[in-house]
Amino acid sequence: MVAIRSLTILGATGSIGTSTLDVVARHPERFRVHALTGHRRLELLAEQCVQYRPERAVVPDAEGAARLRRLVGSLPVQIDHGTQALCEVAAEAQIVMAAIVGAAGLPSALAAARAGRQILLANKEALVMGGQLFVDAVARHGATLLPIDSEHNAIFQCLPRGRDTGQSVDGIARVILTASGGPFRDVPLEHLREVTPDQACAHPNWVMGRKISVDSATMMNKGLEVIEARWLFDVAPERIEVLIHPQSVIHSMVSYVDGSVIAQLGNPDMRTPIAYALAYPERIDAGVAALNLAQIGTLRFETPDLKRFPCLRLAQAALVAGGSAPVVLNAANEIAVEAFLSGRIGFLAIAETVDATLSRVAVQYPDSLEHLAEIDQQARGVARALVEVIS
Ligand code: NDP
Ligand code: MG
Repeated sequence: MVAIRSLTILGATGSIGTSTLDVVARHPERFRVHALTGHRRLELLAEQCVQYRPERAVVPDAEGAARLRRLVGSLPVQIDHGTQALCEVAAEAQIVMAAIVGAAGLPSALAAARAGRQILLANKEALVMGGQLFVDAVARHGATLLPIDSEHNAIFQCLPRGRDTGQSVDGIARVILTASGGPFRDVPLEHLREVTPDQACAHPNWVMGRKISVDSATMMNKGLEVIEARWLFDVAPERIEVLIHPQSVIHSMVSYVDGSVIAQLGNPDMRTPIAYALAYPERIDAGVAALNLAQIGTLRFETPDLKRFPCLRLAQAALVAGGSAPVVLNAANEIAVEAFLSGRIGFLAIAETVDATLSRVAVQYPDSLEHLAEIDQQARGVARALVEVIS
């Protein structure tokens, strides 16, 4: 018999959050939901509270807390609001799924690290921003960091067993991150100026939240993942390769110095990496259909075109520049994607805004969460001003 473990899901109402609950529902003997958090979708959060009976729920503000209380009636759940409460519920459970989108997820993910928890990290922006600070906190407090991002989860599975994330592994020639190329891989370049948010969010293989869907269309997502890989696997930037693989069947690979290449394959369904990390080091049913390679027939690969995907180039350059450059890249991207999704700027202006912000904010070397937050705010201010001028 397995011991039941407590679980907090930060960002329970999102795409990763709901997929996590789907896996949890298949294994009631393994997981007890300690806390669920949401932001705007409070009706959904209320339904989740009724179904999964968490001890605590966290929402952004007092108004949201009062609304959630009305929605759940007399259900015995403690409802709190704000970042402090998010950090508390992150520190309390044995397993923490960090699935808030964007920089907003950093403080609570870091709180889980500082409490020495098993962190299932979907919120790549936390690692892009936190970098050394984040991996140091994981190591210092004996936390376990398991990647949920499908590529990093794949790489983790392709590395020798029994090592921690953040530790280098001998004999690796390259890690190869695969990328679908998103919905605009074959769209003529001159049409990219006109594409709409709905077109950008219509990913060919994955169903995801809107922000990461736009990031996939610009390939900023892959750029953020290159930075994420650098910190998760302690691998030098020049050893991280990006390869377009439109079928999204190979989720990533590790190439070793003896010529071996080890890949992880599966249907594109986030429940696979989620189940892997939830039960680690065991394997449990994720509800995912078996991979049928005969039906898929062909797997294709190509090198990304950096003219089509300038965001990938900008992210790679920010990683090499080091210091606060990834923080600035991420902040500017969040502002630009939000402006694109709300129809204020065009698709191509996302990369232009990120590029211009990076060249306006000098590289600094943050050593605390407070300093990181200051740089993040500074970059957001610059990016917002740029968006104002364009829109
Ligand atoms: P969604 O937009 O679907 O969900 C985001 C979650 O965060 C929701 O629960 C949302 O609440 C909550 N949230 C949003 N803003 C805030 C805030 N300011 N404070 C607190 N909570 C907030 O995103 P995804 O699930 O797609 O992505 C989550 C993370 O996982 C991202 O970092 C993404 O890059 C990463 N990821 C996602 C993948 C996927 O397949 N979806 C794959 C790999 C990584 P509400 O919905 O109630 O407003
Ligand atoms: Mg990914």
